[in-house]
This record gives sequence, C-alpha cells and structure tokens, in this order.
Amino acid sequence: MELDPENLPQNLKPQPIPQLLHSVFEKGPFKTCCVCSKVLTDGRLYEIQKVFKGREAIFEMAICHGCGEEVAQEFSNESKENMKKFLVDNFRPAPEPAQCHFCGFPRNLVPNFTIVGMCQKFSLLVPSIIMCEKCTERLQGKLSRKTREAQGDFIKDNFPGVPEGLDVTPSPSLILG
Ligand SMILES: [Zn+2]
Ligand SMILES: [Zn+2]
Repeated sequence: MELDPENLPQNLKPQPIPQLLHSVFEKGPFKTCCVCSKVLTDGRLYEIQKVFKGREAIFEMAICHGCGEEVAQEFSNESKENMKKFLVDNFRPAPEPAQCHFCGFPRNLVPNFTIVGMCQKFSLLVPSIIMCEKCTERLQGKLSRKTREAQGDFIKDNFPGVPEGLDVTPSPSLILG
C-alpha cells in the first residue's frame, strides 16, 4: 500500500507520537532501533510495539522497517498469509485507541493488550492499533510452529530479559502492506 499523507482524511493524517508509544526506559520517544541501533528519526519507517499488563508496560520495542522485514523473512509463507487474512478480516478502524481494534472490547476493561504504531521521523503515520490479549492469542493460533519459533528466537536474541511466551510479532510490512 502506497501511503500518501496528503490524501488522507484529517483524523488519519500523521500525528505527533502519543505518550502511550514513548519509551518508558528512555523516558521519551524512541530514538534508535532496538535491533540494529540505527537512528530511527532520519526518515525511515519504523514500528513501535508495547505490551501492557494493566497500567504497566511489560515490553517495549522500536524496530526499523529493514529489521522488521528481516525478521518476517523467517516466517513461513502460510503464516504470513494467515496473519494478513486475520488482520484484514478482523480489523475495525477507530480513530482513538480506546478499544481493541479486532474485537471492539474497551481498552480500560482488558488488562493486557499490545499497542502498535507505525512511525516516521517524529510522527505516527496512521492511528495506533490496539490488540487485546485474547485477539493476540487468536492470531498466534494461526501461525505455524516455524513462525512461532522465529518469533521466540527474535525475542530471545534481542530482548534477553523478556519472559518466555510473550507474543510479539514484528510485522510492519504485514500490517501496512
Ligand atoms: Zn533496525
Ligand atoms: Zn480483542
């Protein structure tokens, strides 16, 4: 999908990155890719993901488009198709990140959720996407063993302190493409 910010409706125009997507660790916006350490704000596309348990962010990462694509290469084609189908079939657009975008459950009632933002420079390109834990599980259930192992390796290699079994899918090209 080619993104032309000029043609988008007002509420879909790039916005400043909201605090919800800032780094807790860096106490501000993410500055570098968590995988390759390159500067994020030079114009490349990047993705921010945070996993919340209640009010606490238990996982956070910013990953540049190039690193995201590299991880996605390890995923099986079948999983990529299933993932895309799940996202397209279930996505319910909403301008405010107040509910799960896949089942509609209000965010303040679901204790655990993932928030994803596609960014460029200091802007959020499209409204951030919220996925509750149940929907994350549904999505994970559609992935092959090979893909789940690739996800696990990615987390283990880049985020050693993260508890095993945390489902994180770096997927900028899958969500936008
Ligand atoms: Zn990177
Ligand atoms: Zn949901």
